[in-house]
Amino acid sequence: MSEIPSVQKDESMVLQKKMISEHFDRLGRVEELGKKVVYTFVPGNLNELILSFDMLPVHPEVNALQSGMRKLSGEYVQEAEKDGYSEDVCGYVKCDLGMMKKGNIGPTGQKLPAPDLLLLCYTGCFTFMKWFELLKQEYKCPVVMLHIPYQGDGVIAESMTRYVVKQLRETVIPAMEQVSGNRFNEDKLKMHLTSSARAEDDLVSVWESAKHRPSPIDGYFGGVFYIGPIFTAFRGLPECEAYYRVLRKEVEYRIEHGMGPITPEGELRDEKYRLVVEGPPSWTNFREFWKIFYDESAVMVASTYAKVGGLYECGFRHDAGRPLASLAEYCMGCYTNRNMAGRIDLLESYINEYQADGFIINSVKSCNSFSVGQLLILRELEKRTQRPGAFIESDLVDPRYFNAANIKNRLESYFQMIAAKRAAA
Ligand code: SF4
Repeated sequence: MSEIPSVQKDESMVLQKKMISEHFDRLGRVEELGKKVVYTFVPGNLNELILSFDMLPVHPEVNALQSGMRKLSGEYVQEAEKDGYSEDVCGYVKCDLGMMKKGNIGPTGQKLPAPDLLLLCYTGCFTFMKWFELLKQEYKCPVVMLHIPYQGDGVIAESMTRYVVKQLRETVIPAMEQVSGNRFNEDKLKMHLTSSARAEDDLVSVWESAKHRPSPIDGYFGGVFYIGPIFTAFRGLPECEAYYRVLRKEVEYRIEHGMGPITPEGELRDEKYRLVVEGPPSWTNFREFWKIFYDESAVMVASTYAKVGGLYECGFRHDAGRPLASLAEYCMGCYTNRNMAGRIDLLESYINEYQADGFIINSVKSCNSFSVGQLLILRELEKRTQRPGAFIESDLVDPRYFNAANIKNRLESYFQMIAAKRAAA
């Protein structure tokens, strides 16, 4: 998703940086290349379908988080607030609108092209709809909405899959044919789906490596980099497969040599605490936030945020044998499309399977999709697992809501509590 601010660069990091830079370079030359552009969101993205029409995706929330990491989001958010957007509006939206007003310059310094299509896969976040309504006014291009039924009962019924496939056939594909000028090519879609599944296998192996002691990865701070290619423009492409092959090898090497995760401060060598995290990170203070945990030798062994664009370790794979049905099931399986009981079950399984000492909830002001019900999650998880949780508050891209001293104090007491419990045991 962005270049990791580290002195130690693995081959996978170099590969990812190259992929991102080439993607933004293509976006900067769409006219010359004759490519059409689809703006779409990460959860439930239809990357393989977009690729099968030879179009290029742009993910507004990735641009927002990149702006956060590059310390530009504060200015963009305030720019949007000057236009009347209230403090309560999701920071990603305000950051995107502010960025648009300031020339729509992407993370590599090139201007982003305007969308030819706004593809809205509705996976549990109402803000997505409002966001694209605003972009539609600006860009005057068509919006296509794929309505994804919520997993209210915690299951994906066949009728739900049929409902999504029908929309893909009757609404989304015809719109893509019209915008791209290309006919739908199912064989091409299948080829991308087959490639996706191979990358997904490797990613699952990377996630599960954190069950080792010491964990060779950080499944939250490091995890957000691992999901970069597969959650964005690259899933379904050979370079995405190559990235995950290389990453998996690097992680296997670290397991073999008893190594801990690579962090911006160097390798974490003395794993002391293993934690599970719920909620997105604070992008504006990402490195500072990570360092608070690094200083305590705490490793995040699993996180829900790193699964926001696909929960592959639960068994889902894109399937070329059922191309549209598998795209539909992918969209419905997204974390934010799961009900509260499903989210709690998932977190409980992470805490147990990854042998965590406890869990952290980072409740971000911006995001209702994540933050709703997190106090209930906290209480229920403590009851079920008998392991302590810490509740901290910040924001995704609004630096006014990140208070390092408060968070550090809160976490220091939390780690002392875990240490005291251990000593007593
Ligand atoms: S509310 Fe949350 S899920 Fe929705 S757009 Fe904002 S950050 Fe994304």
